[in-house]
Amino acid sequence: MNSGFDVVSILYRVRREMREERKREPHIYWITDLVRCPLKREYEEIYPEISLSSLFSPSAIMGDLIHIGIEEIFRRELSNAVVLTEVEGSRRLSVPEKGDVEVRGRSDVIIEIGGARFGVEIKSARSDTKIPLEHHIDQVRLYNWLFNLNLTYLVYITHERITQYPIDQRATEEEVISRIMSKTYPRYQWECKYCDYAVLCPFKKTW
Ligand code: SF4
Repeated sequence: MNSGFDVVSILYRVRREMREERKREPHIYWITDLVRCPLKREYEEIYPEISLSSLFSPSAIMGDLIHIGIEEIFRRELSNAVVLTEVEGSRRLSVPEKGDVEVRGRSDVIIEIGGARFGVEIKSARSDTKIPLEHHIDQVRLYNWLFNLNLTYLVYITHERITQYPIDQRATEEEVISRIMSKTYPRYQWECKYCDYAVLCPFKKTW
């Protein structure tokens, strides 16, 4: 009997709502914008429909579910700690040619325990090849700067390995400004191969 209960539509609705929470605004740079090709931020504004396909990617939805599961486990198991999840932070910066901008980020988990405060960034993937990946380390260094953390654990959940890397390096304000101003397309060599905008981008690298 069809009761009208639709798990799939619930999952898609939640994912759509999560995306809508991050509406684009010209003066706001998310940390995730600073660890990917700068052109993607511009293309998202001009061609919002192209990025919609990734909204319904099963692997992305699985990643969301892994995040929710781990965050819930932390809340249950770390009763002697303060566990903050999906923590949003922001800092204002003055950037040449752009004026005042706001840098925003959302840390998966921040844990406060015994006077220490550290972050946890969760990454899920099929393979563990080359982990920890450069752009993930950059993201975590930027979170250490944004949230003033001494350390963030970069945690990988893959089909081949579940492991963690403590990252204590921290980005500087100069680096953040340089990333906002960057005109290096793509930012990382491999990006064009996986980019939704490769179908129209004149800067696509084909090597
Ligand atoms: S195709 Fe390459 S250069 Fe163009 S937007 Fe995508 S990642 Fe950037």
